Amino acid sequence: MSTPPFERAGANGRLTLAVPSKGRLGEPAIRLCAEAGLSFELTERSLLVPCSNAPVDLLLVRPSDIPEYVQDGVVDLGITGANLVLEAGADVVTIADLGFGRCTLEAAVPDDAPHQGVEALAGLRVATAYPASTRRLLADRGVEAQLVPVSGSVEAAPRLGLADAIVDLVSTGSTVSANGLRRIGVLFSSQAVLVGGREAVERRRELVDRLDLMLLGVVAARRRRYVMMNARAADLPAIRDVLPSMGAPTVLPLAEEGQIAVHAAVDADDVWELLPALKRAGATSILVVPVERLVA
Ligand code: AMP
Repeated sequence: MSTPPFERAGANGRLTLAVPSKGRLGEPAIRLCAEAGLSFELTERSLLVPCSNAPVDLLLVRPSDIPEYVQDGVVDLGITGANLVLEAGADVVTIADLGFGRCTLEAAVPDDAPHQGVEALAGLRVATAYPASTRRLLADRGVEAQLVPVSGSVEAAPRLGLADAIVDLVSTGSTVSANGLRRIGVLFSSQAVLVGGREAVERRRELVDRLDLMLLGVVAARRRRYVMMNARAADLPAIRDVLPSMGAPTVLPLAEEGQIAVHAAVDADDVWELLPALKRAGATSILVVPVERLVA
């Protein structure tokens, strides 16, 4: 079978990719691997999961452990949060941004406190579960605060009199405001990243590039839609005017004289504005379909 976990990665010629086993990054990371075309079967207790169609083993571990495993060569590559790489101070190569697990490390103070901006943290007691990255990001701005490391319920720290402010990860901001806090500044924007060990990336370049291509093909495709429509050939210039397509659209003749089909890949975010504009430009029978893979 595959390399037992925690032996040095790559001993059997296979690539080991550490993937968050649970938590916020777990399900989307595993889904990305599956959509990228890796074939594997997860069981309740499996820690090391071999892929049947590629020389890749997935090691399911806590996301906060992944930066160090990658740095130390326990695994070749890992998927984890950019903030966790920063928190671990790990010396790894960031190969790709993966477009999920987006959040920001932000400072917040009680609603009635006067502070504004990250600089206002100077001299305050700041509770955080991310002390190493907070210290470093504040130092980058020349701010020195008194950090109070906590492991959970950071938002409660000001109310409990443990701290004057907090630094915590935010995605919607609802937890912060539900706890009577006001956001005063962003220290770091994070998302899930693919990271590799310096030596592993060099030594296994071909396989790393291949995995990167497969994962990024899915990440890029998620932001795209494929739009197909029929139109009169005479309306093509007006349709092209509103179509922010990647390169030129595909134009195909229909069996009916003077009629064409136009196909284009567009940004998913643009579809809301695009459809009425296409209709106004003369398009009919408009179809919008998801894109599975996009390799530029
Ligand atoms: P976990 O503790 O296993 O749920 O994973 C936490 C990681 O998920 C963080 O380190 C971030 O990289 C990411 N994340 C994304 N959004 C949030 C959020 N709103 N709060 C905390 N972590 C988040």
